[in-house]
Amino acid sequence: MTNSKNVCYYIFGKGSIKMLPKLLNSRRTNYTDYAIFLVDSYFINSQFVEGLPKQQQDMLYFVSTVDEPTTNDIDSLYEDILQKKNSIPCCVVGIGGGCTLDTAKAISNLLTNGGNAEDYQGWDLVKAPGVYKIGIPTISGTGAESSRTCVLINKNKNMKFGMNSEYSIFDQLILDPDLTATVPRNQYFYTGMDTYIHCIESLKGRHRHPIADAFSEQALILCKTVFGSTDMQCSENREKLMVASYLGGCAIANSYVGIVHPLSAGLSTVLNIHHGLGNCLVMNVMEEFYPEETLEFHEFVKKQGVELPKGITARLNEEGFDRLYESTIIHEKPLINALVEDFKTILTKSKVIEIFKRI
Ligand code: NAD
Ligand code: ZN
Repeated sequence: MTNSKNVCYYIFGKGSIKMLPKLLNSRRTNYTDYAIFLVDSYFINSQFVEGLPKQQQDMLYFVSTVDEPTTNDIDSLYEDILQKKNSIPCCVVGIGGGCTLDTAKAISNLLTNGGNAEDYQGWDLVKAPGVYKIGIPTISGTGAESSRTCVLINKNKNMKFGMNSEYSIFDQLILDPDLTATVPRNQYFYTGMDTYIHCIESLKGRHRHPIADAFSEQALILCKTVFGSTDMQCSENREKLMVASYLGGCAIANSYVGIVHPLSAGLSTVLNIHHGLGNCLVMNVMEEFYPEETLEFHEFVKKQGVELPKGITARLNEEGFDRLYESTIIHEKPLINALVEDFKTILTKSKVIEIFKRI
């Protein structure tokens, strides 16, 4: 049985970003204490960044979202901090989408545990609590704000894996739906759908947990309202999706995803397709495994007039499909959860390749 942990503190509501200075001040006990801000590069040169409660000794890094974070990215960032500072910060503040929030979590863990990012990819490998960290999502869906993992691509090992540990859980969240107002329409859908997919995969899995189920069921109700409505991005729906994302992340603490995520991880690893889009591309062809949900997904796409690119794998050769297969099948826990212990009898190599060819 798992002894489960969720985020301890969160502030929710429009304008709640105003609470950041107070929260941060409570961490600054000494005048030399410094904080590290990791901010989504979308906000470079913005008034928003100008207004952050940054002090002279603090560090500010913008996190690029051109590619999803890799273990090498985290190692370089960690190196840079070590070169510039000889003490541990009083706080790491992550502000942005899943890429930025995961970068904040990984850096927080490395700062107290040392070593390389890939040392902690797996289940419960982080030995010591990370630096106190505040998470502030600016786009909703991944649940990275409330989950116990931070997902990193490991190019050397051709895989995408998280530092799955209770030390990867944020200490404090600020959930301010005003911050998601500027998210582009397609991206809003792709990332938002991540919650829907987490929750259906969790509920359809063999591993059941009543609390995870309850989180997932409520998150799904909210997702269906948002994506079934005419204006998925109105203020009320942005609030609902932020709640759904939070609940979805909590659900995953006690449950596993299913088939969509491993296939999507394959697309990320081999073709650099981002998580939200990758999930949607896979979900689009999941009739065999999640028939009702796939139909519902098609309705959401139609209702929201969202674009899904086609022919993603058209140019791949045999070696490319082999790599896709390998980087999918490595995700044993979710595949066992979705199928059977011996999941490779159902998800054979030819089946996996056939699915990828339809994407
Ligand atoms: P992302 O972080 O790349 O953000 C998506 C895009 O939206 C980026 O271009 C970003 O700059 C932009 N953006 C963010 N906020 C914005 C705003 N307010 N206005 C305008 N643009 C804005 O993508 P994502 O879908 O949020 O996260 C994907 C990442 O999260 C992947 O690396 C994935 O592996 C990871 N993930 C982590 C977990 C977890 O539990 N830790 C769960 C699922 C996914
Ligand atoms: Zn996901």
